[in-house]
Amino acid sequence: MKNPEESLKSIISHSKEYGFIFPSSEIYDGLSATYDYGPLGVELKNNIKSYWWKSMTQLHENIVGLDSAIFMHPKTWKASGHIDAFNDPLIDNKDSKKRYRADVLIEDYIEKIKQKIEKEVKKGKKRFAEKFDEDEFRATNPNILRNKTKILDIESKMKKSLEENNLEDVKKLIEDLGIKCPVSGSKNWTDVRQFNLMFSTNLGSVSGESSEIYLRPETAQGIFVNFLNVQKSGRMKIPFGIAQIGKAFRNEIVARQFIFRMREFEQMEMQFFVRPGEEIKWYEYWKDARIKWHKELFLGEERYRFHDHIKLAHYANAASDIEFKFPIGFKELEGIHSRTDFDLKQHEEFSGRKLQYFDPEIGESYVPYVVETSIGLDRMFLAVLSASYTQEKLEDSSERVVLKIPKKLSPYKAAILPLLKKDGLPELARKIMQDLTPYFMLQYDEKDSIGKRYRRQDAIGTPYSVTIDHDSLNDNSVTIRDRDSMNQHRIKIDELKDFLDKNIFI
Ligand code: ATP
Repeated sequence: MKNPEESLKSIISHSKEYGFIFPSSEIYDGLSATYDYGPLGVELKNNIKSYWWKSMTQLHENIVGLDSAIFMHPKTWKASGHIDAFNDPLIDNKDSKKRYRADVLIEDYIEKIKQKIEKEVKKGKKRFAEKFDEDEFRATNPNILRNKTKILDIESKMKKSLEENNLEDVKKLIEDLGIKCPVSGSKNWTDVRQFNLMFSTNLGSVSGESSEIYLRPETAQGIFVNFLNVQKSGRMKIPFGIAQIGKAFRNEIVARQFIFRMREFEQMEMQFFVRPGEEIKWYEYWKDARIKWHKELFLGEERYRFHDHIKLAHYANAASDIEFKFPIGFKELEGIHSRTDFDLKQHEEFSGRKLQYFDPEIGESYVPYVVETSIGLDRMFLAVLSASYTQEKLEDSSERVVLKIPKKLSPYKAAILPLLKKDGLPELARKIMQDLTPYFMLQYDEKDSIGKRYRRQDAIGTPYSVTIDHDSLNDNSVTIRDRDSMNQHRIKIDELKDFLDKNIFI
């Protein structure tokens, strides 16, 4: 078993070797925390996007799409609070010169205590075997109780100091907990400072304060400012949602960990507009709907957990993350936030325009409340890739690397492989390719032995390999090989389309 760092390294090099992800501007030694998606990466990314898009818009009559501009009027960001409050508390270690997010250092410390609790539970399971009652053990074991109290205490101190923007207290907490720099091992910290995460640029040719604009740090505001345009043009009735996929930019303090934290990334967001007072009901609804969406991909139920926020953003009255077990541990994949009427009210105030909805059912006008689901496309990509990446020892003691990507998301759905490059096999293979290519992304490959070709398809996650051999010329059948089980069976050529339809888009 590889340790998490090694397994992330394997995934990074595999991604590059097979054309999923390249470091940006690599010939100039790259640009930190920016990546380019290669030919296979862009297919997988597009498939994730359409899987999400379809689940939002096609499967919900009351959710429609939007594609708003990255640049927005600068007042947008004043209204949303991003200019004043989209900050992360940063801290530097004086010895390693490494920069950290102070809140993340504390959260990592809490995570270590949580791991201690899980270890204790494991020990208990072993000791009491069949008699083990996990709930009771968690509720009574003194070590667990002590650690739970410790977590609550740290969380409440952190919440208080961050909410009060008391950065001295944040530093004191780091010092009191004895948190060390993971690189230098020292506790020699600078003071904690706030750092705004928005990138700015200038509009037009004149540089100066008045022309300063921002690269959007989230796609959501494009939805809020278009709320009435969409509602009126689509005659939408509350509750309804607006979905959007697009780039967002954040000048992250710590941007390591591959595509997990980038400075330019893509979000898939949906803002759901509801009647005031009904937001918590819908918040619960979307928490449930979103975790189901994830689990339907079968990446492993144990890889997901909810993390309810202790420190709520300035706009939220409830918030939870869906965390995923990445190679770097459980980390946020998606946020579900009850954003209240904060954003729309702020935009009303700053624009001087009314952003209200007349609800015919109750005969009242109001500013709707909003529940948001926000998932990072790149993080979803990393989730799929890291859960799919498998190294297997085979019966003949050889090894294979296989990407067990959910079939509907895989870049290619099938490979078309003539057994030999002669005897009319390539011609028949090309004919099959031509017939199926309007329906599926296919790859044709006639180079190297069939075994090598299977390995190549395994490595890029192609669910099926279709081999055309001499018998195919007479019996109109081909061999189809399943990526995961490696089982093979014969199938009539004219049944291939049906087979792929049934087995891929399940
Ligand atoms: P984190 O706590 O990890 O910084 P966040 O809470 O700031 O994330 P949100 O503002 O809720 O993130 O953004 C919604 C989603 O956008 C996140 O769940 C994540 O999937 C994605 N996301 C946010 N920042 C980045 C980033 N720098 N790189 C890639 N994806 C990101």
